[in-house]
Amino acid sequence: MNALTATNRNFRYAARILGLDSKLERSLLIPFREIKVECSIPKDDGSLATFVGFRIQHDNARGPMKGGIRYHPEVDPDEVNALAQLMTWKTAVAAIPYGGAKGGIGCNPRELSMSELERLTRVFTQKIHDLIGIHRDVPAPDMGTNSQTMAWILDEYSKFHGHSPAVVTGKPIDLGGSLGREAATGLGVFFATEALLAEHGKSISNMKFAIQGFGNVGSWAAKFFHEHGGKVVAVSDITGAIKNPNGIDVPALLKYKKSNKSLNDFQGGNAMDLNDLLVHECDVLVPCALGGVLNKENAADVKAKFIIEAANHPTDPEADEILSKKGVVILPDIYANSGGVTVSYFEWVQNIQGFMWEEEKVNHELKRYMMSAFKDIKTMCQTHNCNLRMGAFTLGVNRVAQATLLRGWE
Ligand code: GLU
Repeated sequence: MNALTATNRNFRYAARILGLDSKLERSLLIPFREIKVECSIPKDDGSLATFVGFRIQHDNARGPMKGGIRYHPEVDPDEVNALAQLMTWKTAVAAIPYGGAKGGIGCNPRELSMSELERLTRVFTQKIHDLIGIHRDVPAPDMGTNSQTMAWILDEYSKFHGHSPAVVTGKPIDLGGSLGREAATGLGVFFATEALLAEHGKSISNMKFAIQGFGNVGSWAAKFFHEHGGKVVAVSDITGAIKNPNGIDVPALLKYKKSNKSLNDFQGGNAMDLNDLLVHECDVLVPCALGGVLNKENAADVKAKFIIEAANHPTDPEADEILSKKGVVILPDIYANSGGVTVSYFEWVQNIQGFMWEEEKVNHELKRYMMSAFKDIKTMCQTHNCNLRMGAFTLGVNRVAQATLLRGWE
């Protein structure tokens, strides 16, 4: 199912549970502003290349809009729209004072050189600079982008508006980035998993984890599970997949991937089919890559008892239904992966304060926010007798609806 159709469906279901007025529902659903720009750059060989960039600003009732910028060949307006909407509910669930936005450029960053990526990022920034801003819309990294991308955006934006470190988050530390930001989404996934398992009388140690995606989110999450006694029995990325029923030595795999840029031929496990990762024998499945990976084709074969949505919208609504009938507990994306944007908020606060926090404080505050959101979601689940996805959606949608009503529409 198309990402936007799926996200709208979850939103509408939550709006019904909350009994929202249909006019308010419509106003919450339609994006605040949709930006589509042409980004033409000279390639290194002198030829012209034209890409299409998007920034969808979904809602700003609770504060400046916030969300990542994705560089991926499959970026399309519908998907960016869905991701922007998810950011609105995510920031509300996390109780941080932001709305939601998302951006993207349809490109394959692996096929572009560093200087081509820099030119593309600068052209995109030139096209959107007057629509983003510290109190307007604050971009961050997402798939295919990183702290270097944010450094280029900051530099280009500052040419128009003066030095403004808080205009992007996920920056390099030397430019005002926060300690702990790079690990934050993975650490948040870890805290969220810990909270969920504790609720079921279980702990991380000795649980078997299968992790799809070994990029910024998956690799940090794997590291934290491993450090706390979890057995990471299968890992995949776009280059391949490996399994080891006794648990993969995650630090060794991290080292291997760093020097080989691939998981293939790692000696601490056996190669497996990429497509088998999601249906591999494990207790906890952690999709950390693309959206829509759990669908009606594979949901019935999932072996895990818990799914932690570290990726954005990895589970199709059809798969959601099949999995819930099987009794699989799903921790939804708008909570499970909110650690990244939460530490982005801390970075923005530090930039505005002009004062840098110690990493210990960042991680301590992150844990506090993650625990508090989990408690709030559980309260919604009890109040509305619903699953965790609807608990999170009703929590987020209700907070945005209340802010919208308070502000009024004059
Ligand atoms: N791209 C991340 C997400 O999907 C982080 C966004 C941010 O820090 O603004 O939540």
